[in-house]
Amino acid sequence: MKKQKKKKIRRFYKQSIWPSIVLFLLFIASCVGMVLTFVASFQGYLMDSKIADIHEDARNLGRMIDMHTDNHAAVFDAVTFVKKYLEEENDICITDENDRVLKCFGASEPDFERLQEIKIFDSYRIIPDLDPKRPHEKRMLLTSFMDIAKLSVDALAESGYETDKWMDEPLFHEYYWVQIPADVQGYHLYYKDSLIILQKNVFFMNLAILAELLMLSIPTILLFVNVLSSIRMQKRMISLLYQDSVTGGKNWCYFLEQSRKILCRLRNTNHTYAVVNLHMIRYQDYCACNGVREGEALLKKISGFLQVNMDRGETFARFARADFGLLLRCADAQQCQKRLKKMLVELTGVKKDKMMSFSAGIYLLRPAANRKSLQRRQIDINQTYHFASAARDSMRGKEGEYMKVFDQQILQEQLWKHKVEEKMEAALLNGEFQLYLQPKYHPVTEKILGAEALVRWISEEDGMIPPNRFIPVFEENGFITRLDDYMISEVAKLQSEWKINGQKQIPVSVNISRVHFVKEDLAEHICHLVDGYGADHALIELELTESAFFGNKKLLQTILKKLKMCGFCLAIDDFGAGYSSLNSLKDLPIDVLKLDMDFFRGEDTLQRGEIVVKETIRLAKALDMKIVAEGIEKKEQVEFLAEQGCDMIQGFYFAKPMPADQFNQIMKRETQHT
Ligand code: C2E
Ligand code: MG
Ligand code: MG
Repeated sequence: MKKQKKKKIRRFYKQSIWPSIVLFLLFIASCVGMVLTFVASFQGYLMDSKIADIHEDARNLGRMIDMHTDNHAAVFDAVTFVKKYLEEENDICITDENDRVLKCFGASEPDFERLQEIKIFDSYRIIPDLDPKRPHEKRMLLTSFMDIAKLSVDALAESGYETDKWMDEPLFHEYYWVQIPADVQGYHLYYKDSLIILQKNVFFMNLAILAELLMLSIPTILLFVNVLSSIRMQKRMISLLYQDSVTGGKNWCYFLEQSRKILCRLRNTNHTYAVVNLHMIRYQDYCACNGVREGEALLKKISGFLQVNMDRGETFARFARADFGLLLRCADAQQCQKRLKKMLVELTGVKKDKMMSFSAGIYLLRPAANRKSLQRRQIDINQTYHFASAARDSMRGKEGEYMKVFDQQILQEQLWKHKVEEKMEAALLNGEFQLYLQPKYHPVTEKILGAEALVRWISEEDGMIPPNRFIPVFEENGFITRLDDYMISEVAKLQSEWKINGQKQIPVSVNISRVHFVKEDLAEHICHLVDGYGADHALIELELTESAFFGNKKLLQTILKKLKMCGFCLAIDDFGAGYSSLNSLKDLPIDVLKLDMDFFRGEDTLQRGEIVVKETIRLAKALDMKIVAEGIEKKEQVEFLAEQGCDMIQGFYFAKPMPADQFNQIMKRETQHT
């Protein structure tokens, strides 16, 4: 996965939920704050208004005493006079300036010992009354909403839930000694008053708080639902983002992310891990036979099987087509291979009625020797998977092998591939690809009847590079079409030179890679290249391998027919090497059949091999095709082929591929002889 995509996913993950959650928490905090402020201010207001009443009483009393006090000695008389007009409970007490009680009018007196309970309101001192009949705790000013609410509920229960009566009953009835603000020198006057809070005061306060809570609860619920739904939505989006559309399991993004997490966990750094490329062989054919739906159902089954076989701390996902990436934890390479082997065997039976085979490439991540390199953060999972695929790829064409661990040799191959890809463009521009020609001889007259154009890469750094070192790379990356175009042009140029020089002209074959046969206008394209040099179409033979027949057969037929109409000669190269399709001989307008050199290798060449060659030549003759035998190295082989009526022989027995100049010399000599 591209780094940018990974970043986007992480950014998305971080961004979309947290702001909503933080916003929600902030909202809840501000609601709680609002309710608390409301309760505190309501409570404060209630108490302050009651205390203000007491103060008012104290101030009035002060004025009355002042009115009846002519001199200081008359204070006692004035208080005695005023007391007569007060309620019985409103005791008055006279103290000196140090709050030593001088005289009290009434049944009780203030306790100046309880200094810590003295509160100052509006600069007047106020002291809770010490009444032994009531419990001490009740004698304090109420401080919290909870206290008031609790008292109120208790009182409601006591009243037998008669709300009318309950409303006018006092909830809180407390006595306080309040300093009287009278203008009397040398004395302090205190009078006792009660602070009453009725049930209805608290009831309405509770009602207001409830209303506020209700009002706040609506946006809170809405916001909560919103946060919940956005969390759900995000989860769904993440699961969609990480879901493989075919198997329903996890996809490649997930695999990369999860593998990175597993490998980076500190406790996992001491374990060996294997990044595996598990591949179903010939999935394409399976789909062709059973349909794409069946193919996808099979992939689902494979995914289900892998899911069951994964241990904790392991993961897997489908990469593409029938390729799966696995991250396995293993003790060592042997244990990993053993486990995979078992899985591969069991997988062949995942669909009872179908025969399937699987292969796997492994890249081992061993624990590092030092602590610093234990950090596996730097590991590029995509790259390791690529190495595992390269290991699997390296088994291509090797029968019986189905599992391979990435090693130094494969790494060298990878490096080579990289180097080839880096240099190919410049090499083409600098003319490093050179035309070599291998002559084709008549088996009896031993005269040159034709030649095959073979490319050689003459590199300054690596010397002469044979085609099998770079052609497979070019076929993979598509550069082969450019190289083939170049070779066609070189051959066309050579033909026109021979024509201009009045030399003998012989047909020259050029290899056309199967990669070309997706271009609908291939025939027109080749015509255009050849016509650019004015070469004769009939003298250019196009060799295509049997693997070209596995693509779109209809398109291939159309292209070949067009090429034929343009006058080119068509040959099947390496006939008999792969899955020989005799049908192609029937359906395609082929002129030449080139027998694969493997017919002339091995032990039984002289018995069974000879029969096959003999019969193939007979078949080709019957179909009016010319036969070229390739890779002929021995005289007996030439004699045998001559006996069978083979038309041409190409092989080291006569000549190896040579540079075009050298071939020209031979051709000049041949021209002079005739
Ligand atoms: P091919 O087209 O089948 O070419 C014949 C190969 O057999 C050549 O190998 C040739 O050198 C080799 N050969 C011929 N006679 C003998 C013999 O007696 N003994 C042995 N051991 N080998 C013999 P070369 O040149 O290495 O080419 C290998 C393959 O690379 C070619 O097989 C062809 O498929 C591909 N190739 C070469 N040049 C081009 C090109 O320009 N375009 C494309 N698309 N493929 C090319
Ligand atoms: Mg060839
Ligand atoms: Mg060949």
